[in-house]
Amino acid sequence: MTDAIQKVCVIGAGTMGAGIAAQVANAGIPVLLLDILPKEGSDRDAVAKGAVAKMLKTDPAPFMSKQAAKLVETGNIDDHLSRVAECDWVIEAIVERLDIKQSLYAKLEELKRPGTAVSSNTSTIPLEKLVEGRSEQFRSDFLITHFFNPPRYMRLIEIVRGPHTDSAVADRVEDFVDRKLGKRVVPTKDTPGFIANRIGTYWLAVAINAAMDQGLTIEEADQIGGRPMGIPKTGIFGLIDLVGVDLMPLLSQSLTQNLPEGDPYFDTVRDLPLIDRMIAEGRTGRKAGSGFYAFDKKTRTKRGIDLNTGEYRDPIKPERLPPRAEGDLHALTTASGKVGPFAWEVLGKVLSYSAMLVGKAADDIVAIDDAMKLGYNWKYGPFELIDRLGPGKLAERLEAEGRDVPAILKTAGDRPFYRVEGGTRQYLGLDGEYHDVVRADGVLMLADVKLGAEPIIKNASAALWDVGDGVACLEFTGKMNALDGEVMKLIGKAVPLVAEKFKALVVYNEGSNFSAGANLGLAMFALNIAAWSEIEKLVKGGQEAYKALKYAPFPVVSAPAGMALGGGCEILLHSDAIQAHAESYVGLVECGVGLVPGWGGCGEMVDRWKKMPKRPQGPMPAVAKVFEIVSTATVAKSAAEAQGYGFLRASDGITMNRDRLLADAKAKALSLVDGYSPPEPPEFTLPGPSGKAALMLAVETFHKQGKATDYDVVVSEALAEVLTGGDADITDTVTEEDMLALERKAFMERVHDPRTQARVEHMLETGKPLRN
Ligand code: NAD
Repeated sequence: MTDAIQKVCVIGAGTMGAGIAAQVANAGIPVLLLDILPKEGSDRDAVAKGAVAKMLKTDPAPFMSKQAAKLVETGNIDDHLSRVAECDWVIEAIVERLDIKQSLYAKLEELKRPGTAVSSNTSTIPLEKLVEGRSEQFRSDFLITHFFNPPRYMRLIEIVRGPHTDSAVADRVEDFVDRKLGKRVVPTKDTPGFIANRIGTYWLAVAINAAMDQGLTIEEADQIGGRPMGIPKTGIFGLIDLVGVDLMPLLSQSLTQNLPEGDPYFDTVRDLPLIDRMIAEGRTGRKAGSGFYAFDKKTRTKRGIDLNTGEYRDPIKPERLPPRAEGDLHALTTASGKVGPFAWEVLGKVLSYSAMLVGKAADDIVAIDDAMKLGYNWKYGPFELIDRLGPGKLAERLEAEGRDVPAILKTAGDRPFYRVEGGTRQYLGLDGEYHDVVRADGVLMLADVKLGAEPIIKNASAALWDVGDGVACLEFTGKMNALDGEVMKLIGKAVPLVAEKFKALVVYNEGSNFSAGANLGLAMFALNIAAWSEIEKLVKGGQEAYKALKYAPFPVVSAPAGMALGGGCEILLHSDAIQAHAESYVGLVECGVGLVPGWGGCGEMVDRWKKMPKRPQGPMPAVAKVFEIVSTATVAKSAAEAQGYGFLRASDGITMNRDRLLADAKAKALSLVDGYSPPEPPEFTLPGPSGKAALMLAVETFHKQGKATDYDVVVSEALAEVLTGGDADITDTVTEEDMLALERKAFMERVHDPRTQARVEHMLETGKPLRN
C-alpha cells in the first residue's frame, strides 16, 4: 500500500511546508514544493528555492543527506499548480487563513486526479470549514495531517478524517506517513487545537498563571514543573523560550476563537502585560537571545526574568525538592512550602482537562498520551501521570475542592488507566472496560515483549530476550547503555546459547541512544587507581566479545537508533548487517578523548572502505579515508550519512519509523539465516611507515593552521600507526589479529598519557571534548 504514493506535492514553502517536503525527500520520494511568486526579482520560483537553500544551512538539518535535497523540485503556484496531476498526495501548508486555503482548494479541485489525497497542515481550522463549497470527490479525498515542528524530528502526526473522507484514501496517507515519513499516527477528532496543542497550550497557561499567582521564580517553576513530572528539562518557561514567546498570544487567540463556550481554557485567559512587553521589546526567546531566560555572554550565566519587574536578575538556584517528591507525584503535590501548591495547581488542572477530553478530542486515552509524549516530549502521558498520582487520589482531591470530576475519572474509580493482563498492556475505555493497546500492524516493541516474559539471561549491563520466530535480542541495559565488562561477559554467554536455541540475533534496545560507547566513568575510575591491567583486560575482552559475535554460526543484525558512538559503533561494524533507524548518529569518536578505537573498529573500517564499491584500489585510499573520518571523530548525523562514511554498508537497511525498527531488524536477520556461514577473517595489505608519514603530513598542516592541537597530533599518530599496519611492509599480509594487537598497543599507550586522562575527565564533567 505504501507504494501507492510515489510523488508528493507540498504547497507552501514556509517553516512547515519546507520541512515536510524535506522529510518526504528523506524517505527517498520525489517532491514538488510550490509557493507564491516572489515580490521582486525575475526568478518566479525564488520563494520555494530560497526555502530549500535555507534548509541546507539549518542546524539541526532538515535533510538527512545531500542526496535527499536533490529530490525536492521547486516551483510556483502560478506556473506549476497543474503538476499536482503528477502527484499522489498534495499537502497544503500555506498561511493559516481560511479564505486563502479555500481558494487554493478550489483550484486544486480542477487540477488534481480524483483519488489523489489532499491534506491540510492547519493547526486550528476545522476540516468542515476547509471543504465548504467543494465537490463530493474533493471531500472524499480530503483530510487533515497535522505535523509538528520540526517535521524531521518530531515523531507525532495528528490525523483528522472528515465525515466524508474516503477511508481508502486516508489509509494510504496514514500508511505512508507511518512507514515512509516515520511518524506515529494519532487519530484525532475535528476539534480546535486537536490534542497536543490544546492540552499543551492549556498546560503552559495554567503554569504561567500559577507561577505568577503563587510568587514562584521561573527557576522554581521549571524545577517543580519539569523533571518530577517527566517534562523535559526545559520545564515551562524554558519551553516557551524554545518555541518562541511570540507564539503564546497566537496559540491563545486561536483557541479562544474556536473553543466551545465553557471550556476550562477560558478560565486561564488573562492579560499578561509582561508577555506583551517582552514581545514588544523583541525578547521572544532563544531565537532572539533572550526571553524568560537571557544568556549573559560576559559572565556565561543564564539570567532569569523577574516575573514582577520584567528585568533580568542573577540566576537563582531553587532549593532542592523534598527527596520523595522527585519520583512520587502524590508526595510532590502534597509537599509543603511552594512545591506542593504549584505542583497541584498544574497537575490537578492539566490532568483533569486531559481526562475531560476523552471522547471529545480523541477516542481514547492512548491517543492523548501518545500525543503529549510525541508532540511535547513528555516522558509520561497525562493518564500515565494520573496512574502515578493515583486516579482515586486525584478524584478525591478534586471533589474535596468542589471541582468537577471528569467522567472517565469517575469510571476509573480506584482502578488504574493502564494494566498488564496476560502479558498485554491494556487501557481503560470510556465504557469502563479494559481494552488491549493495539500497535500498528507489523510493529514489534521490546517493551511489549518484556511485559509477558523474563530475559533468557541478564546481568547489570545487558540482557538477552526471545523476540519470537527463532530470533534473540541482545539489549544493553546499563546507565545510558554504556558498554562495560558486563556487556562483554553477557555476549560471551549469549553466543553459545543463541547458537543452540535460536536462528539469529539482533542487537537492539529502546533507550534514547543505542549506546554512546564505553563507560567512561568506569574507565576514569580505573585510570585514577592506575588499574592498567584491568583496562587492558577490558580492551581485550571487548575485542574477544565482538569477534565472537562476528564469527558466531548465526547471523547478527544490529539495529541502532540515536547515538551509536565508539564501542556502540564498533558493535555495528562487527555485525553481518545493520538495520538502522533513520535517526542514527554514528561515529568512532575515541580520538576526541585521546584514545583510538580499541574494540576492532580500526580494522573493520579499513575492511569496509577497501570493499566499498567505486573506491580507488590500492592500500592507501581506504586507509586515508578511514584516517580522515576517525582522527576527526566524525559523527554521521543520520543513517544516510553513516552510509556515506562507510559505517553502514549500501546493503544495510534504514527504517524511518522508530516503532518498526525491531520488526525490520528481525526480518533482516531471518532473511540471512538460510545457508548462513560466518565471514572469512579479513587480510590487509597496508602501507606501513611510509603511509603513516604521508598521513601525518596532513595532520602537521592542520597543526600549523591551528586546526589540530598539540595532543591531536599525538593521538592522530597513534591512530595512523594502527591504520597503516605498524611496521608492516606493503608486501606483508596483516591479519585481523595483527590489527587487534596494534589497536591494543596504541590504546594502552594513550591511556597512560595524562593528556588523555584530562580529556576523559573533561568529557565526563562537561560532555564536551577538551581541546588540549
Ligand atoms: P509560514 O508563514 O512559515 O509559511 C507559509 C507559506 O505559505 C509562506 O511561504 C507563504 O509564502 C506561503 N503561501 C501563502 N499563501 C500561499 C498560497 N496561496 N499558495 C502557496 N503558498 C502560499 O507558515 P507555517 O508556520 O509553515 O505554517 C503553515 C501551516 O502549517 C499553517 O496552516 C499552520 O497553522 C500550520 N502549522 C504550523 C506549525 C508551526 O509550528 N509553525 C505547526 C503545525 C502546523
